[in-house]
Amino acid sequence: MKDLRNLTEAEMQDLAKEAGQPAFRGRQLFGWVYKGRTDFREMTNLPEVFTAWLEENARIDSLKLLARQASKTDGTQKFLYGLPDGNAVETVFMKYKYGNTVCVSSQAGCRMHCAFCASGINGLVRNLTAGEIISQLMDTERETGEKVSRIVVMGTGEPFDNYEEISRFIRILHEKDGRNMSSRNFTVSTCGLVPVIERFSEEFPQVNLAVSLHAPDDELRSSLMPVNRSYPLDQLIPACRAYTEKTGRRITFEYALIRGKNDTDESIGKLIHLLRGMLCHVNLIPLNEVSETGLLTSGRKRAEEVREKLEAAGIPATVRRQLGADIDGACGQLRLKAQQAAESED
Ligand code: SF4
Repeated sequence: MKDLRNLTEAEMQDLAKEAGQPAFRGRQLFGWVYKGRTDFREMTNLPEVFTAWLEENARIDSLKLLARQASKTDGTQKFLYGLPDGNAVETVFMKYKYGNTVCVSSQAGCRMHCAFCASGINGLVRNLTAGEIISQLMDTERETGEKVSRIVVMGTGEPFDNYEEISRFIRILHEKDGRNMSSRNFTVSTCGLVPVIERFSEEFPQVNLAVSLHAPDDELRSSLMPVNRSYPLDQLIPACRAYTEKTGRRITFEYALIRGKNDTDESIGKLIHLLRGMLCHVNLIPLNEVSETGLLTSGRKRAEEVREKLEAAGIPATVRRQLGADIDGACGQLRLKAQQAAESED
């Protein structure tokens, strides 16, 4: 049985042909799927014979809501969804002035083992399918009753470690008979897999790219992010420059401020040296503390000082608004808690 949220419009037309229907029925089906319908009987312009065939041969996988946290202060909501094989993924819904945004996960777990992150603590379980990533959007709209206009792929997982499904996910949501989402409304965040950054800038020049930088030199970055041992800064930064030159798009560098580690004046001086002259923007994140990592946040006051230093050096920077500060803010925390609870019950 095929999960229809995994199929492109052309593949849905092929499915209609397989069912003995003309291709345009596949286009109609595609339209219904992206209107959020999951019951074939509600797809009122499809003939009965096709509806019956779909009930036998296809499915639309909704995710099972396992937990939900809602901020009382800013409308942020965090969801823990169950996958059919028993794994769980986190999705965050955020309200911004320019529209609603969801932050989706691309993998169950992560193999990158960044020192500050709850998602990588137990390693990678598996890649998500494009349909499971799309379901995070569709089911969050169902749960909140609100439309989402922007998607950031910044939840659990390294999207470029699951490139085929991430590209399929973007292509499907971009199709005009479905969600018709502009490429510019997607942001994909990577920890710095250099060869994939190069491929991505060729294939998706309109999609925004964010790079988790978090340190201005190799020694510190390798200690925080093991990926840096494979792709050190003298490879990563030129790949980022090449992305901006090829696409004409500004790249975002994520920099989580960790007290005494990467927030000293010396570190910020190195950061300025590294990024000066690049078409970029630095997103400073007061670290969300995860007790398992033992790392401490620099706090908002220091984050503002760092922002001023960067701006004075001509590098645009913002301090990320602390969304949902009254709920488990760090990515992966909800999933980690659920895992720990399940383990303690074993
Ligand atoms: S920060 Fe991202 S890449 Fe690093 S371990 Fe966490 S999910 Fe993986």
